[in-house]
Amino acid sequence: MADLPPYLSPSSASAFDGCPRRWRFKYIDRLPDPSGQAALVGSFAHRVLEVLCELSADERTVERAKALAKEEWPAFALDEDFIALELDETASRAFRWQAWLAIAGLWDIEDPAGVEVVSTEQKISTDLGSVPFVGIVDRVDRVGERLVVTDYKSGTLPGARWREDKIQQVMLYAAAIYGSTDELPERARLLYLGQRILDIRVTDQRISDAVDALGGTWNQITDACTTDSFDPQPTVLCGWCPFVSQCPEGRAELTRRSEAGSLPAHAPAAALVA
Ligand code: SF4
Repeated sequence: MADLPPYLSPSSASAFDGCPRRWRFKYIDRLPDPSGQAALVGSFAHRVLEVLCELSADERTVERAKALAKEEWPAFALDEDFIALELDETASRAFRWQAWLAIAGLWDIEDPAGVEVVSTEQKISTDLGSVPFVGIVDRVDRVGERLVVTDYKSGTLPGARWREDKIQQVMLYAAAIYGSTDELPERARLLYLGQRILDIRVTDQRISDAVDALGGTWNQITDACTTDSFDPQPTVLCGWCPFVSQCPEGRAELTRRSEAGSLPAHAPAAALVA
């Protein structure tokens, strides 16, 4: 029997839905799962936008963001996951440039000076249905009388069939705000920096669907912990799984895909079966 975690976050729930075995490695065995370069670029962009949006509206300019990026960089460069990337000066400069494109991409899709920011990086702990939930909400805005939940995304806007998972996550944030403040947000927005905004109306039905799905995942996690049974779910994503060397089914999937020519060459684990 494995210990049930004390709470579920949107990323943990999504990880279990993706592959229970991978979830076990990360959340029960606590094996190291360092953030990759793309995730770290996003973390740095998030940090700069968080500080920017804590400033008064008229200070939220591109020039101020540039100055903040310079101020925040020395502390970020000490992050152990960033150090583990072992970037040389040229690669480090490319990293900062990528992060800057994400930061500056905010102005491509909205003018932050026109936003009434209520909170940034707000940690919310609440029960959603019967699930103990913890989430960190990038930004909560007020538009007129109503709240709007905003989540930054520095990755590529996913195709339509992959968006539902992201929408579900932001609906959980809306549900958590509703549960903890009694104010139902009117909209939930995914800001794909430099690309476009996915703007979704929050309804009781959407909230209820997201909370039900979270409850279903929580029940599956409870069963898996009770029986200590975490099935592998091999997909192309095994190519990006940091635990593939501990997972025979994942390695078999990589081999099968490599032989079929369907394993992307840029997948970090592709070298294992090259
Ligand atoms: S290698 Fe694939 S099947 Fe194995 S844990 Fe990772 S994602 Fe799951």
